[in-house]
Amino acid sequence: MKKFLSVLIALAMLLTMFGAVAIAEAKEGTYEGTGVSQIGGELKVAVTVGEDGTIADVQVVSHNDTPGICDAAVSGIPSEIVAQQSLAVDAVAGATMTSNAILEAATAALTAAGADIDALMVKKEVVVEQAADVELEADVVIIGAGGAGLAAAVTANEAGKTVIVLEKMPKVGGNTILAGGALNAVDDRSETAIANNDSVEWHYEQTLSGGDYQGDPELVHTLVANAWDGVEWLKGLGMEFIEGSTFTVTGGMWPRAHKPVMPVGTGFFDTYMKYIDSHDGVDVMLNTRAEEITVGEDGRVNGVIATGETGNKVTVKAKNGVIVATGGFSKNVELRQAYNIQWKDLGESVKSTNHEGATGDAIKMLMKLGADFVQMGNIQLLPLGDPQTGSLSGNIEMNVETRIFVNKEGNRFVNEGGRRDEMTAALFEQTDNWMWIIMDSDKYPTGDEKNNFNESVNELIAAGRAYKGETLEELAAQIGVPAENLVAAVEDFNAHVASGEPDAFGRTLYETPIDDGPFYAAARVPTVHHTMGGVRINTDAQVIDENGNVIPGLYAAGEVTGGIHGSNRLGGNALTDTVVFGRIAGASAAAAK
Ligand code: ADP
Repeated sequence: MKKFLSVLIALAMLLTMFGAVAIAEAKEGTYEGTGVSQIGGELKVAVTVGEDGTIADVQVVSHNDTPGICDAAVSGIPSEIVAQQSLAVDAVAGATMTSNAILEAATAALTAAGADIDALMVKKEVVVEQAADVELEADVVIIGAGGAGLAAAVTANEAGKTVIVLEKMPKVGGNTILAGGALNAVDDRSETAIANNDSVEWHYEQTLSGGDYQGDPELVHTLVANAWDGVEWLKGLGMEFIEGSTFTVTGGMWPRAHKPVMPVGTGFFDTYMKYIDSHDGVDVMLNTRAEEITVGEDGRVNGVIATGETGNKVTVKAKNGVIVATGGFSKNVELRQAYNIQWKDLGESVKSTNHEGATGDAIKMLMKLGADFVQMGNIQLLPLGDPQTGSLSGNIEMNVETRIFVNKEGNRFVNEGGRRDEMTAALFEQTDNWMWIIMDSDKYPTGDEKNNFNESVNELIAAGRAYKGETLEELAAQIGVPAENLVAAVEDFNAHVASGEPDAFGRTLYETPIDDGPFYAAARVPTVHHTMGGVRINTDAQVIDENGNVIPGLYAAGEVTGGIHGSNRLGGNALTDTVVFGRIAGASAAAAK
């Protein structure tokens, strides 16, 4: 991967400035240490201490963290420990949990080597020499290497254009790589759609009604009408989906989500980066933060000014146009508090599923250009956050149909097949805003089956993040809920699975009863997931100003845009949004001028 390599080489050059100093008492040899990552559990590191008592080599020997998400930490942290001869190295942004587990394992290994750990914990000052300012040019300049940005980059390049993508984080992927991976798309002619009574029309209707008809009908039509073509395009690029079936993702309301073979959103980036690495004309600049979008004397957007990895100025001219694909602002507590109109409070106490880069940087840049914003107060929460981190990892559900939610009293409280906003609002009414997902072993015949996050329930149990009981009573004791309530809740649910009738909460999505032990539970809390408002675009992904006019040369796609999902986004429509509007933005910018 040439783009990653150039960054690593630059990093290595900076780090050679540190001379290797012997670590008192450490004995020559190779030592293994273990750390625990909150994502994949146990992680092993081997540290080699040289003859001279310095740290000669650090290797991650084994881990279960998600490839594509943890890569920058697995390669970056060991080389920094060696270069700095220190354990006080900074975590890699976007891969904090993996970074911390590697540092924990390396600490254990160096303890076994007899090294002076206190001395190794002293933070060394890292002197970064500022690189020279650079001026670059491309046909299309894209801000953000998430789902929408890279779909746009590939599309513009397929149309023969040169592309520069600016990404502020040390890796590609944004939030898209952390998403569950479900992509809603209907092929009207497919047997699956016919069997599920689904159609593009029904997808359109559910998207609009699910967002209380606040979504722009033309944008929604564009989204659903081009969704299946997006899947075919991805397959043409080599992306694999689980064939022959679709599933209902939480809040998706219908079984129309396609599931990639690779975990979470990693399949999209594997696909996009393979294309980018094997074609000329697309450059992804990591650690490069866009600060300003520039406008020429003719009033047309003509480039971006960014800050490079070492604080240098990076000026990129865009011959055709600039695409803004910077994602949302769920990690910016101040902004979500300022805009929120749907929830009582979105302060620090409510965690988020998002990556650290979801801070809404583009809002200011776009405001300066007079761009119009729509429905900024519409912020989607999910009832599925990890209680410690807010992340979607640790979620044991495999689909909507086979699981229920119970509160701390062991009672169901909502239609678990309903809208995301309604499920989360109901969760806020429960004791400690806390619920348990309850399942049986139908989807876990052995317990080694992987969820969307590449985690098996057995691993989650070992890590203390999920619980198992041979009977419902045993499970109730494990999670501390009254057994009689849990049993009654499951019995009532099972009766409705048998009858197929809506239950007291209005649930209609059923598959199998919860009656096959062992039984499983995992805790979940409300978490901020997706900012549905954003910059106004038209169906060509052109940005619209406050007077309703197109801003020439400026395009936007993905979560940074508003007006598609309305007041409540259908689960599974965000990835569709990145693919459909990312491609449209790439094609529009390529065709401009
Ligand atoms: P979407 O789903 O809309 O594609 P993502 O969250 O997947 O959104 O991707 C948005 C990407 O944009 C992230 O990788 C994020 O780090 C990046 N980004 C956000 N702000 C900036 C900025 N100012 N400069 C460069 N990249 C940015």
